[in-house]
Amino acid sequence: MTDAILVLNAGSSSLKFAVYPYAPGSPPPILRGKIAGIGTNPVFSVRKSVGVAEPKASLMPLEPSAELDVLIPKLLDWLNSNRSGVTIRAAGHRVVHGGRTHAEPALVTDVLLTELEALVPLAPLHQPHNLAAIRCVAAALPGLPQIVCFDTSFHRTQNRLSQLFALPRAMTDEGIVRYGFHGLSYDYIAGTLPTHLGGRANGRVIVAHLGSGASMCAMLNRRSVATSMGFTALDGLMMGRRCGAIDPGVVLYLMQEKGLTAQDVTSLLYTKSGLLGVSGISNDMAALEANAAAPAQEAIDLFCYRAAGELAWLATAIGGLDAIVFTAGIGENSALVRRRICDRLLWMGVEIDTDANDRHATRIGSLSSEVDVLIIPTDEEIIVARATHALTSAKPAPTRLKP
Ligand code: ADP
Repeated sequence: MTDAILVLNAGSSSLKFAVYPYAPGSPPPILRGKIAGIGTNPVFSVRKSVGVAEPKASLMPLEPSAELDVLIPKLLDWLNSNRSGVTIRAAGHRVVHGGRTHAEPALVTDVLLTELEALVPLAPLHQPHNLAAIRCVAAALPGLPQIVCFDTSFHRTQNRLSQLFALPRAMTDEGIVRYGFHGLSYDYIAGTLPTHLGGRANGRVIVAHLGSGASMCAMLNRRSVATSMGFTALDGLMMGRRCGAIDPGVVLYLMQEKGLTAQDVTSLLYTKSGLLGVSGISNDMAALEANAAAPAQEAIDLFCYRAAGELAWLATAIGGLDAIVFTAGIGENSALVRRRICDRLLWMGVEIDTDANDRHATRIGSLSSEVDVLIIPTDEEIIVARATHALTSAKPAPTRLKP
């Protein structure tokens, strides 16, 4: 049996997990998997395994109505059974919102959990599930050390201007500021930049994390200077189901003139907009690319137009551009989206090599491009695993959470 770290990323309809050896550095994962379809028809799958037998979905039959409180104990039982070959020594969680103060990963305590509960209204789609996963692990394995890593932490290096809204000062003081998200992904990419860019790694780099949720981060010295997401993960780029930046007057109009409730608007902006709303077909970029219908193509066009515009604005925050990095599901896999975004940035010296782009090569900038253009697959889980090992090996005394 191998001592292991369990990394959990709990969302509204899926629970992604990865299991790493309990060791420092960046050991390869033992397992990666997910339970998809939570709330409708949960299906367990393991995407990658090293040194253990590939488990079959049938090894874990799941009831259709099972939620995290049932699924997590089942997953822990399965992992701690002989079949997976591991013994879980600590758990690490991706938590979307750490508020203003948490610039680093932290050991979970009751006080911290209460603090993070207070941030639920700022990330209603993600935070409740992240926190539920922590409580489920605590209930199933009392005393197991748990660590949280925040998507907001990476952006705490930003200066005050980057974080301010043009709102009355009292509101800024109470925490209505730009927080930024996808920090674990940016942290991982920042760590890989020297390998890919040498001396330019510390230059003006914009990372485009384009997945179901999408954002960009402008970095100098591999630290966040500005980012497209703001107070919530709704701001900035157009996303799969989220609208991205929108004139706040639209929200006022919908509520005052159209009679939408706050609940209606939340549902509209978080789940019915973006690629899904514009296309009326799908929130999934691959599906839209395969669909010749005009609304599908218009949704892709708008996604790329908005992304190029955001990138150009972020370049202003760092005084120009040395490199662009594409990452996450769309960034890593859609040659079409990368090309359409880069074509709009030709005036900034961005030129891609279409063959390299179509092959999804690591370096896709043309030889004459003034800006390096890269595809780097992200790995948010390894960031959580490293932090979990670092914090639990330094503080071995487990904290028993209240049930
Ligand atoms: P998340 O982890 O936030 O759920 P991902 O990073 O997995 O999201 O990204 C999902 C998005 O990536 C979907 O819109 C999906 O269609 C898109 N995607 C994945 N593979 C491809 C592909 N080959 N071509 C175009 N888009 C793709």
